[in-house]
Amino acid sequence: MKQVNQVKNASAFVKDSAHRSSHDKHLWDARMRRDKTAAAIPEWEEMRELASAIKKHTLSNLDTYLERFEENATRNGIHVHWARDAEEHNRIVYDIFQQHGVKTITKGKSMLHEECGLREYLAERGIDLAEADLGERIQQLDGQRPSHIVMPAIHKLREDVAELFAEKLGSDPHNDDPHYLNKVMRNDMRKRFVKADAGMSGVNFLLAETGGFVVCTNEGNADISANVPPLYVASAGIEKMIPGPEQLPLFIRLLSRSALGFAITQYTSHYHGPAEGQELHLVLVDNGRTDRLASETWEVLKCIRCSACFNTCPVFRRSGGLSYEATYAGPIGIVLEPSYDLHRYAQLPYACTHCGSCGNVCPVKIPIPDYVFHWRKEVVEQKEDLLSHRYEMLAGSKALASEKLVEAGEKFTLAALKHTPHALMASRFNPWAKAHEMPAAPEKTFRQWYREQQKS
Ligand code: SF4
Repeated sequence: MKQVNQVKNASAFVKDSAHRSSHDKHLWDARMRRDKTAAAIPEWEEMRELASAIKKHTLSNLDTYLERFEENATRNGIHVHWARDAEEHNRIVYDIFQQHGVKTITKGKSMLHEECGLREYLAERGIDLAEADLGERIQQLDGQRPSHIVMPAIHKLREDVAELFAEKLGSDPHNDDPHYLNKVMRNDMRKRFVKADAGMSGVNFLLAETGGFVVCTNEGNADISANVPPLYVASAGIEKMIPGPEQLPLFIRLLSRSALGFAITQYTSHYHGPAEGQELHLVLVDNGRTDRLASETWEVLKCIRCSACFNTCPVFRRSGGLSYEATYAGPIGIVLEPSYDLHRYAQLPYACTHCGSCGNVCPVKIPIPDYVFHWRKEVVEQKEDLLSHRYEMLAGSKALASEKLVEAGEKFTLAALKHTPHALMASRFNPWAKAHEMPAAPEKTFRQWYREQQKS
């Protein structure tokens, strides 16, 4: 399969200043709210430390916790299934639907479903599936994957949504008022909720001690899908496990504050068995997680999918999530996707400026910046890097190994800075100058200045 070229994919978005600035602004606002709400909790850093330790402990004893969970969940009346990979997950879900004659489904947002390609799988088999989350539904109607794990359509402007709804749902293309657009979506979805044969959702936390699970949403879409139809099927990656209810509040406190800077998600729903007259199935999915657990980058499994690393990342904010052509974009995506397919995602670890901000905001302290280096090393060792990179590195290592060459380079750069006309420096031939003023050239290089100081 062809390698994903994130730089090329992002170029149209980068040039489109309306979309890029709106994207950048909304995500940065979320990051700022996150900082404010985190700063209001004096023990915030201790909370991150503790959450990381709990996740590490649970992952290190995952086999025990999974068995305990299954035993308790089964006792609660939940049908528990195990899926080795995406294909098995989809087959299990489809079999359940076939047994119940399911034709229509409403579904809460789930990155695991994206990972498994469930929507496409069910569509090919004639099942009518409607995403119930507003952003995810927008993306479904537009035939796109989510561009952000918490705000799936954040790369779009209101006008884009108005146009899309007009085309797909027959609404007014000139009315981009968010209340109006919400009403259009609600009117369409209500009919679907009422007649859905089954509902689906993902899972945020599995509780080993009680055999229950927790789903967090801001729109309540998962709750309707879980409670209205007679059949409810939830899917969870096995890494979603925590020991029990005692640890849950810590993660709930961290999740929404890290995601959007709000104290809590609007809906934090607990499922400890089927509702009256309902059947409840839960599919526990591996899909490469146990291999990841045995790898050097095993801490990626601590991720609670809060999106704080997306919101802070300067590359993600300016290039948009679709440019990664992957289920998981942003900082966690560039260290996660290569573990699914190193060849296809070999260029993603280079979508990073090494600012380290993702590591600073991650509520479970995943060492993302270290993992970026791990994957770059892996990419080079497995010869999956670009030929141009290889030559650049070769030339760079030769030049930097020679003091004379470095000194000559410094002098040349200084002369270029001093003598190139400003009009040329600020022209379209220098993309950097679009958003920056070139600094005034110093009189001498640092090396020349340092030598002089030593002599005096
Ligand atoms: S890596 Fe950390 S910051 Fe990024 S989504 Fe996961 S938990 Fe959130």
